[in-house]
Amino acid sequence: MNTKPISSASNLRIGIIGGGIAGSTIALKLANAGLTVQLFEQGVSLVNGPPICHLHAGGNLYREIDQAQCITLLRQSIDTLKLYRHSADYRPTVIAIPKRDPGNVHELLPRLERLQHEYAQLVAQCESNKVLGEPEEYFALYTRQQLERLATLPNPKTPEIKDDWLIPVAKSLDLDKLKFPLIVVQEYGLSVFRLAATATLSLAALENCTVSTHSSVKKISKKDGHWQLTVDCQQQTKQFEFDYLINACGYQSGTIDDLVGDIPQRLVEFKAAYVAHWAQCDAIWPEVIFYGQRGTPNGMAQLTPYPDGYFQIHGMTQDITLFEGGLVKSDSNSAQPRLAAKFIDKLTKQWPPEIAEQRSQLAIDFMSNFVPSFSSADVAGKPLFGAQQIPGNNPHLRAADVCFSQDYYARCEIVKASSAIDAANAIIENIIQLTNVQLCNVNALNSLTQAISDNDISRLSSDFAAQRNYPISLAHRNTKN
Ligand SMILES: Cc1cc2nc3c(=O)[nH]c(=O)nc-3n(C[C@H](O)[C@H](O)[C@H](O)COP(=O)(O)OP(=O)(O)OC[C@H]3O[C@@H](n4cnc5c(N)ncnc54)[C@H](O)[C@@H]3O)c2cc1C
Repeated sequence: MNTKPISSASNLRIGIIGGGIAGSTIALKLANAGLTVQLFEQGVSLVNGPPICHLHAGGNLYREIDQAQCITLLRQSIDTLKLYRHSADYRPTVIAIPKRDPGNVHELLPRLERLQHEYAQLVAQCESNKVLGEPEEYFALYTRQQLERLATLPNPKTPEIKDDWLIPVAKSLDLDKLKFPLIVVQEYGLSVFRLAATATLSLAALENCTVSTHSSVKKISKKDGHWQLTVDCQQQTKQFEFDYLINACGYQSGTIDDLVGDIPQRLVEFKAAYVAHWAQCDAIWPEVIFYGQRGTPNGMAQLTPYPDGYFQIHGMTQDITLFEGGLVKSDSNSAQPRLAAKFIDKLTKQWPPEIAEQRSQLAIDFMSNFVPSFSSADVAGKPLFGAQQIPGNNPHLRAADVCFSQDYYARCEIVKASSAIDAANAIIENIIQLTNVQLCNVNALNSLTQAISDNDISRLSSDFAAQRNYPISLAHRNTKN
C-alpha cells in the first residue's frame, strides 16, 4: 500500500463523481469528518436518479435473497432512518401471497423471526436504534377472519396501530385471491425527493464541501500520485486535482472505471414504476406487496401510497417494470454495460408518450387484479424510472457497498439506497488507513440532518418534484415520526 502521511484532514482533497444518494451521503460524511470535499453532479440537482420509494428494512420484498443480506439491509435501514429521518414515510408494508403463487407464508416466518431478533439486539445495544417501533411488533400476521372484521370498521383519520393500517386494505383487497395469513412488517416508505432536499440543505451547511451541479467529469489521469479531472461545467471545461477519488456514478460507474483503467464485472438494469391517481381513495394506506415470480406475467405487484390519492406502482413483469433486454452486463473490454439506445433515450431524453401511457395503464390493470376498485385510478404523470448497477454477475444481489481496487480510488457499488452509509464509513476507514489522518466528528452527523426543519425539506422537495415534472404530492408523506 502506498501510504501518504497527511498532516491535517483539510489538506486531503477528495473528489466525488456523482451526486446520487451514494455520492451525496459520502460527501456529507466526509465533509463532516473535516475533509475537503468537492462533489460533481452532471444533473441539475442532487439525488435525481431512480425513484427510491421503499426502505428495505429487512429485505422483505425479496424472497430470493439470503438471510445475511436481509440482516445487513435491516441494520443499514436503521442507520438511514437516523440520518434521513425526514425522508421516511412511517407506514408499514403489508405482504400478501396470491393463491396463484407457489409460495407459502410459513416458509417466510423463520427469516422474519430472525430479523425481529436482530432488531431486538440492535435496540438492546443502543436505544437510538429503536426507529422501527417496538422490536416485538416488527411484524404481525393477520388471518382472513381478522381482516373481515377490520373491513367492517370505518377508515381511521390517522392510523396508529397495525389494525388501523389494515382497515382500508381489508375493505379493498379481493381476499378470495390471497393466501392467509397476511404479513405486516415495519418497512417504511423513503422519498427520493425528500432525500434530495435533505442532502442539498445539509451539504450547503458544510463549508468544506463544494457541490458542483451541471458538472460532468469527462477525463481522468494520474500525475505525481494525484488525480487530474477534466470537467465540463456549464459550457466551460475546467481542470481539478484531488488526492483521493470516489466513483459514485450509479449505473454509469463503468464509464469512470474505464477512465481510471479498472474493468470489474457489473450488471446494469433499467426499470420503471408508474404514477396513478385514485380519486375515490379516502383513506391513508400502508404499502401493499403481492408476491410473484419476477419476470413472469405473475410477477410481484407493489402499491406505494402518497398523500392526496396518489400511488406509485411497480409490477415485476416484462410489460410493466421490467423490460426485455433491460438487464445488461459488462465485458472484458469495458466496465460499462451497454443499454440499448431505446433505454438510453428514455433515461436522457423522454419516453414515447404512447409507451408511457400504455405501461402506466397496464400497471393500473395489474394492481386492479388484487384491488378491484383501483381500476378507477387514472394515469397521473410520466413514469418514474432509472437504471441501477449491481456489482458482479448475480442479478439477485441487494446488499453491496464499496470496492477499493486501486489505492486512493473508491468505487461505490450500492444496490439499495440504505447501503450508502456503509459505503461512506468504509471509505473513511480506507482514508485513515492510507493516510493516518486524524478525523473529527466521524459519528456525529445525524444531528446536522435532523436539525433541518421538516418545512424546509418539504418546500425544497416540492420544488424538485415540480422541476422533474411529477405531482408535488409525491414529495410529501402521510406520516412523520
Ligand atoms: C425503478 C427503480 C426503483 C428503485 N427503487 C428503490 C427503492 O425503492 N429503494 C431503494 O433503496 N433503492 C431503489 N432503487 C435502487 C436505487 O435507486 C439505487 O440504489 C440508487 O439510486 C443508487 O444510488 P447511486 O448514488 O449509487 O446512483 P444514482 O442514483 O444513479 O446516482 C449517480 C449519479 O451520478 C451522476 N453521474 C454519472 N456520471 C457522471 C459524470 N461523469 N459526472 C458527474 N456526474 C455523473 C448521475 O447524474 C447520477 O446523479 C431503485 C432503482 C430503480 C431503477
